[in-house]
Amino acid sequence: MAELVQEMGHDCLICRAKREAPHRLLQAAALFGAGLAITSGVLNLRPAHHRAAAAKPVAPVAAPAPAVVRRGAAAHLSFAKAQASQAARDNAAGTLERDAAIGMGRPFFDGAVFTTAARVAQWRPLVVRAARAARIDPNVLEALVYVESSGRADVTNGVTAGLTQLKPAVARHFGLHVSVAHANLLSRRIARSWNAGHIRQLKHWRARYDERFAPAKELRASAAYLAAARTVLGHEDLAIEAYHVGIPALPDTRATYGELYFGSNRVDDYALRVVAAKRIMNMWRHHRGALAFEAGQQARKNSAEEYLHPLASTHRFGKPAAILRAEQHHILRMIPVDTRETHVAISGTLGAEARHLGRARRLYRALRPQALDVLMYIGRRVHELSGARKPLILTSAVRDDRYQDVLQHVNVNAARSYSMHTTGYAFDIARTYANAREGSAFQYVLDRLQAANAIAYIREAEAIHIAVAADAPAKLKLIQTLS
Ligand SMILES: [Zn+2]
Repeated sequence: MAELVQEMGHDCLICRAKREAPHRLLQAAALFGAGLAITSGVLNLRPAHHRAAAAKPVAPVAAPAPAVVRRGAAAHLSFAKAQASQAARDNAAGTLERDAAIGMGRPFFDGAVFTTAARVAQWRPLVVRAARAARIDPNVLEALVYVESSGRADVTNGVTAGLTQLKPAVARHFGLHVSVAHANLLSRRIARSWNAGHIRQLKHWRARYDERFAPAKELRASAAYLAAARTVLGHEDLAIEAYHVGIPALPDTRATYGELYFGSNRVDDYALRVVAAKRIMNMWRHHRGALAFEAGQQARKNSAEEYLHPLASTHRFGKPAAILRAEQHHILRMIPVDTRETHVAISGTLGAEARHLGRARRLYRALRPQALDVLMYIGRRVHELSGARKPLILTSAVRDDRYQDVLQHVNVNAARSYSMHTTGYAFDIARTYANAREGSAFQYVLDRLQAANAIAYIREAEAIHIAVAADAPAKLKLIQTLS
């Protein structure tokens, strides 16, 4: 849904941006950014009760200590360091955005990915023409159509309408004729009519009263919006996010979208969804076999976990002895019990069925090193963000097939066929949190990790079931660079 231009009289931000010199814009943005940094604290990344916190009286900010003036070699060294750290951040943000094309793909595999992709693709000639005219990437405009309307040109909710779901004010700003009252009247008559010829005539009239129902015109207006937003914000991905939240919501032009999403909670995941749709359309066009495989894997569970670890190519532990051997050879690592250090407590029910197999509970207190890294990261990060003293509670880690058999008689959530726990890549964390703040910090961390395609998680009744990708540690490093 485009939430685009804030009209001020008959002037708007984009017009002003076009008129004014670009250096003026940059100065204004920098000043605004600096103001924001002081009043709200850019480094305060805490997701919990963001609004409630903003309503509280702001603690007085101590006067900043005068910066140490460096000269000569010291000045040059600190300059070089700043440059290097910015380059590392840019690189991390770019890589994570590419990972997000996969990590955010899950919602598109709703069982109709091929049908929807074909419907979106039929607009390709119009999309290319509109994108070329505005000098933007046609694949981005096409992905926008996928996310906004799934390629249905008639879809409307009474406010937004058409392939790219423009709002009336925005559509008018970019030169479309929009009469919402007429369009709604005609939409109602279209819904009542049974005569195909009559419907065609009514639709023809509607597209004249409200040009958002004329795909070529609406696509042109959306492309022009994206181009204008890119001029103001300086990055294509920020322009896509602006399509969703409006340009005034993204004043800090110095950071890239990836930095804002993975390093803070200042933007939502809209632009990442568009990137994911772009990947789906690319696969539909050029790698259809790969898309079919991915659709099949995604359909198996309530998360992308079997896409991360397909049954055919993933090693599983069959017997308790296999787990013991893996622990001895460091293929599985023991989970530390120092709760104060890790902020993760091990539940008394973890490995509780071991006695039926004649084994000790501690045998099942292990994970693959990658999964252990992610578990430790979650514990540490949730504690940092929420400040909660009470640790998260780990209720399940590695299992073997025998253990899984026993568990099926006890736990209805236990997977019948292929349990990710038997690979050592999955663990469960109880859904009992110290407070709401800890709960939302956990949600924040889970969302970032899933977007980076480092994990896939399922919300079960009692626990969050988390499957970890084999390359998760590399993603953790990138996220840490940004946060
Ligand atoms: Zn589980």
